[in-house]
Amino acid sequence: METNINSSPKGLITVNDMDIHFADEVVIHSGANLNKCYHCMTCACGCPFSRATDFAPNSVIRLVQLGLKKEALGCSTIWICVGCHTCSIQCPMGIDMAAIMDTLRHIAIKEGAAVAEPDILNFHRDVLHSIKHYGRTHKLEVMLRYKARKWEWFSDLAVGIKMLAKRKLHLRASKVESIDVVRKFFQPKKIRVAHE
Ligand code: SF4
Ligand code: SF4
Repeated sequence: METNINSSPKGLITVNDMDIHFADEVVIHSGANLNKCYHCMTCACGCPFSRATDFAPNSVIRLVQLGLKKEALGCSTIWICVGCHTCSIQCPMGIDMAAIMDTLRHIAIKEGAAVAEPDILNFHRDVLHSIKHYGRTHKLEVMLRYKARKWEWFSDLAVGIKMLAKRKLHLRASKVESIDVVRKFFQPKKIRVAHE
C-alpha cells in the first residue's frame, strides 16, 4: 500500500511499508500512551527547537501512530530534542513526549537506523565518555573532542576564551570521589534468567 502524508515542512513523503507494531513498541518502552494524542499542537508551539527540526513533536507522534518507523527513526527531531520536558509538562493529555523522543533515539541506535544528526549523537557519546571518566562532564574536553571531530578548531574560539575568563570552563578536569559507583552504571547489565 502506498500512502502520502503531509506533515513535514519539507513536503510529502511517500511510504510503502508500515509497521503495525511500532506504536505499541514505543508505548511499551516509553510508558507514554501516544494513542491519546489528539494533535492539539500545544507541544509543537511550546518546543523551543521546533524551528530547527524537520517534524514538529506531534508530527513525530503521528509518524509513530501510522507505523512509519523508518521516517520516525530517521527524522532530525528525535536528535535535536534536548529532553527539556516543556512539551511533556504542557500536554493536556499528560503524554510524556520527552520519553517518546528518548525511546525513538534508543530504538534508532539499537536497530542501526540512519542517524539524521550524527554530530549530535557523537556529542552525546562525548558527554557520556566524560561522565564515565570523571563522574561529571569536563566541558572543555567535550567541546574540544567535538571540534576536533569536525575539524573546526577556531569556530567559537572567542566564546570559549570568554568562558575560560569567567571560569565557566576549566582547564583541568575534576573527578568525583566515588567514581567507581558512577562507572557501575556503564557496565553491561547482567540479566538473571530463572530456570524452572
Ligand atoms: S500537546 Fe499532547 S495531545 Fe497535544 S499534540 Fe502534543 S502530544 Fe498531542
Ligand atoms: S522535550 Fe524535546 S520535543 Fe519536547 S519541548 Fe523539549 S526539545 Fe522540544
